[in-house]
Amino acid sequence: MELPATPPFVLRGRLLTPLVAGGTLHHADGLVAIDAAGGITFSGAAAARPDLAEGAVDIRPWLLMPGMVDLHAHLPQLPNAGLGAGMDLLAWLERYIFPLERGFDVATAERVAPEAWRAFAAAGTTTALVYGAVYEASLDATFRAAESHGIRAIVGKVMMDRVTYDPTIDPSTILDRSLAETARLIERWHGADGGRLRYAVTPRFAVSCTADLLRESAALAASTGTYWQTHVSEDPGEIAEVARLFPEALDYVDVYERAGGLGERTVLAHAVHLSDREVARLVDTGTRVAHCPISNLFLASGVMPLGRYLEAGMSLGLGSDVAGGPDLSIFSVMRLGSYAQNARRVAGVETGRVLGPLDWIRLGTLAGAEALGLGDAIGSLEAGKEADVIAIDPAYLAPIPGVVDEEPHDLASRLIFRAHPDMVRAAWVRGRRLEGPASPA
Ligand SMILES: [Zn+2]
Repeated sequence: MELPATPPFVLRGRLLTPLVAGGTLHHADGLVAIDAAGGITFSGAAAARPDLAEGAVDIRPWLLMPGMVDLHAHLPQLPNAGLGAGMDLLAWLERYIFPLERGFDVATAERVAPEAWRAFAAAGTTTALVYGAVYEASLDATFRAAESHGIRAIVGKVMMDRVTYDPTIDPSTILDRSLAETARLIERWHGADGGRLRYAVTPRFAVSCTADLLRESAALAASTGTYWQTHVSEDPGEIAEVARLFPEALDYVDVYERAGGLGERTVLAHAVHLSDREVARLVDTGTRVAHCPISNLFLASGVMPLGRYLEAGMSLGLGSDVAGGPDLSIFSVMRLGSYAQNARRVAGVETGRVLGPLDWIRLGTLAGAEALGLGDAIGSLEAGKEADVIAIDPAYLAPIPGVVDEEPHDLASRLIFRAHPDMVRAAWVRGRRLEGPASPA
């Protein structure tokens, strides 16, 4: 089968997508029509548009879905994915993570970043919000790799002026230097290729940043219209350390609020152990949260009370947190997230709404897009949006050959609980096919 590499084209397959207005669109025989600019002009039943079905590339019984949105990952850490299970956060950083980021020079970035973007696409992820390392030139290499690969990427240079992994940088110069480097990277990359590439100002987390760095970085993000991303309330040891370092703050979220860091352009990863006051501040300010359940269990950090947060109205999507999580697949994140919420129910600490498979699919696609303020452009397959599409071979999901799921709820359940590393056969961003997913036989 010849899959189209560039638009325009029409795909005919089984269609499954969340809808902006709520609910799910499902057609066993569906079409997605993509114009020359990479925009979706039609998404719906093939029977409704015989004119389009005529010239379509027929990939049935493959499934057409929106690409996954990964709200949290660390690109330089990908080579160590799967190492260090069960260590606590701060010890794991020292042992497995800082050495890798310290070694992320330009040559390493030029080798790792293209492979990393292909790996994201192979997992079905078409939009990723990621952390780089601290070195400016390595960020240029990471952006260049995303530019040529075609993935939709939001990237930021890690900023840290309290604990750092490079002793050759004079601590007294880090704040000004890190801000200047970040400002230059924003100038070069934010909004590149019609907004496909964007910048996220990226202070690592409160433990490794002074109040000055948090405040200045938040001001830079606000004045340039870029994102601001960091970690919050991941691990009890980390939370205690933040309380010690910022005695004037009411709690962890207050550290970022005092810095001017909360708001709709901010994505905070983890947020596992929030008080009711912290939840209310995140909801009231429209701050976004990246839920990373695999990472939270891999590092034994905790289990987010997801039902309570959603009932409070929090804007939340999913993150792989590689290498805190061993797996780039957002389908795997949905599976572990669902198991973790069941564990809360078994333990008697969760009485909120139970998310079903289609709710998890929405979290991994449209809710992630909305968290990035891109809900009108991506996250679902609807006319007027950009064509960020993945194709999945459902044969990988069947427990024995020949089993076919008719209902969308059942299909979604199988996608999550029987996700297979090779099931994503193709991925497109704006109708341009990405390298990474295995070629069809
Ligand atoms: Zn992280």
